[in-house]
Amino acid sequence: MSDAPLLRISGLHKSFGGLKAVHEMEFSVGAGDIVGLIGPNGSGKTTVLNLITGEFKPDSGEIRMNEASLVGLQPYQICRRRVSRTFQLVRVFPGMTVRENILVGAAFGSRRLSLSGSADAVEELLHDVGLADRANQPVSQLTYIDQKRVELARALATDPQLLLLDEWLAGLNQTELITGIELVQRTRDRGIALIVVEHVMDAIRTLCDRVVVMNAGQKIIEGGASEVLSDPQVIEAYLGEDDDDDA
Ligand code: ADP
Ligand code: MG
Repeated sequence: MSDAPLLRISGLHKSFGGLKAVHEMEFSVGAGDIVGLIGPNGSGKTTVLNLITGEFKPDSGEIRMNEASLVGLQPYQICRRRVSRTFQLVRVFPGMTVRENILVGAAFGSRRLSLSGSADAVEELLHDVGLADRANQPVSQLTYIDQKRVELARALATDPQLLLLDEWLAGLNQTELITGIELVQRTRDRGIALIVVEHVMDAIRTLCDRVVVMNAGQKIIEGGASEVLSDPQVIEAYLGEDDDDDA
């Protein structure tokens, strides 16, 4: 085994017209790490996730997973390289049941399991995210928060080594937040590394081994959570921003 990180990003650039959404970004994620990606609204966090998952192609730069480049691959191919995600604005398959949504992850993810082959894994995931009793409901009947649970289970069903959560904890009440944080921790305990984009700073403090802070498309600092969150540059970048704002 080499010492190469699971994911390595370097010199990453993406512009939309004249707007430099992501500029000279670099960071790495080790196997089993939880890395927080934080920054004010519009700082480029979601764009970084969209570049990793192949939604957008970078203008330049490298994204390597287990040392192999992901640049130029389609999202489904990147999923089969064991990178999975949830979306800032939930995207579920509205015409399907909860169980069917999760089955899609198992059938089209890195394992490409048959319906019968994935049955046990899907039941376990339904239970893990607390949706076992709603498995047969159309997903469109669920609350927004429960749809977020479906998305997490679907992402896990693809059997990722790296999971990207885009504000997955946003909008949860205090009780749901505690459950949500535990769910993320259990995911890591299963050996899955995570990049967590989050505005809930208590969650960042509790969960993250390392935190990368973005502002205006660039990384401004990286380090341990307590060190980073007390840095004057970070406090200034967030000035005028509400800690829990999800806009
Ligand atoms: P964050 O997730 O940190 O709030 P985003 O990555 O969503 O920020 O956005 C960074 C910047 O890029 C914003 O100015 C946003 O308007 C712009 N942007 C993001 N996606 C697109 C797109 N598809 N087309 C044009 N501009 C975009
Ligand atoms: Mg975003």
